[in-house]
Amino acid sequence: MEFKIGLIRGDGIGPEIAEEARKVLDAVCRKYGHTFNYSELLLGGASIDVHGIPLTDETIEEARTCDAVLMGSIGGDAATSPWYKLEPSKRPEAGLLKIRKELGLFANLRPAYLYNELKGACPIKDSLIPDGFDMIIVRELTGGLYFGDRKTYDDNGVMTAVDTLKYNENEIRRIARRAFEIAMKRRKKVTSVDKANVLDSSRLWRKITAEVAADFPEVTLENMLVDNCAMQLVRNPAQFDVILTENMFGDILSDEASMVTGSIGMLSSASLNETKFGLYEPSHGSAPDIAGMSLANPIATILSAAMMLRYSLDLDREADDIEEAVKKVLAEGYRTQDIMAEGMKLTNTVEMGNLIAAEI
Ligand code: NAD
Repeated sequence: MEFKIGLIRGDGIGPEIAEEARKVLDAVCRKYGHTFNYSELLLGGASIDVHGIPLTDETIEEARTCDAVLMGSIGGDAATSPWYKLEPSKRPEAGLLKIRKELGLFANLRPAYLYNELKGACPIKDSLIPDGFDMIIVRELTGGLYFGDRKTYDDNGVMTAVDTLKYNENEIRRIARRAFEIAMKRRKKVTSVDKANVLDSSRLWRKITAEVAADFPEVTLENMLVDNCAMQLVRNPAQFDVILTENMFGDILSDEASMVTGSIGMLSSASLNETKFGLYEPSHGSAPDIAGMSLANPIATILSAAMMLRYSLDLDREADDIEEAVKKVLAEGYRTQDIMAEGMKLTNTVEMGNLIAAEI
């Protein structure tokens, strides 16, 4: 099959890890006879250096013509990089927010999976997770508190600030549907997380989620309050399959879930719109402290490429191959410095990419 992939190499370690993901995709193409045509897109600091702004309208238009976009990471060191002397709307991260908005990427997917080989890095006691854990957080990304009206004002001499948390039924329905569709590809359980004992927006969330659940009789729906979920993630993470939640709760819970895996260089993510289109990127940033040194772990980006195959291109078997290849290379004892442990074999960014590509 033939696909057009937008490739954002980005800043810092971005170009190094994006290159390794592309190498692995090339191996997939060779094995299965697919053709991926890449369109190089500039975002973040790399775009500022060429165009003076972090994202041009032309880049957005070009991204729209792609089947999916794969990204390294963007941004620089805020203390030293000239990009951060620009006004906030012209800094690297503004480009990322803009592309998410322009492409309508309302569903953010963040898997948290504990590799047996990396159990040592997990801060949770072994006795609590004898069989590891494997969950995915589905977070609403374009509504709620972060996008509601806000203002700071003087209320009779008292400085006052207000943020608005608003959701309508359509916004809830489309993200809930996504979560149930993903659950159908997994262990068929959705935990919807809210604060329905206090918030009206959460009560609507529960009502609409229950309506969507009726269309997926094979999937079990459970509701959980966000404070309980924060506890359960460190007490019994294995109970979760798909966690469905709104924007701010998802922001916090997905970072908590990723930390219990113990290694930032392993965590992939996807942001999807109403169609099959998605933007795929590692959960970590551009790590300017190790840029250009071949120290970065490319696995999060390689696993993001696997998600792209699964969710945007419907190439599930090929995605499985990549995930299996990563497991094999870890089982053989290869590690980049961020996940290095005693007795393991230290590799660099390029070698790790070569090893995973060779396993495909
Ligand atoms: P970061 O994730 O870049 O780095 C945090 C720490 O983790 C650093 O010590 C870094 O060396 C390490 N690290 C991160 N990824 C790694 C990898 N693949 N392999 C090995 N080690 C890795 O976070 P930060 O330092 O707070 O941010 C740096 C820049 O990245 C900032 O400009 C920030 O805005 C940007 N950022 C971008 C994204 C994105 O592109 N979506 C996300 C988060 C941060």
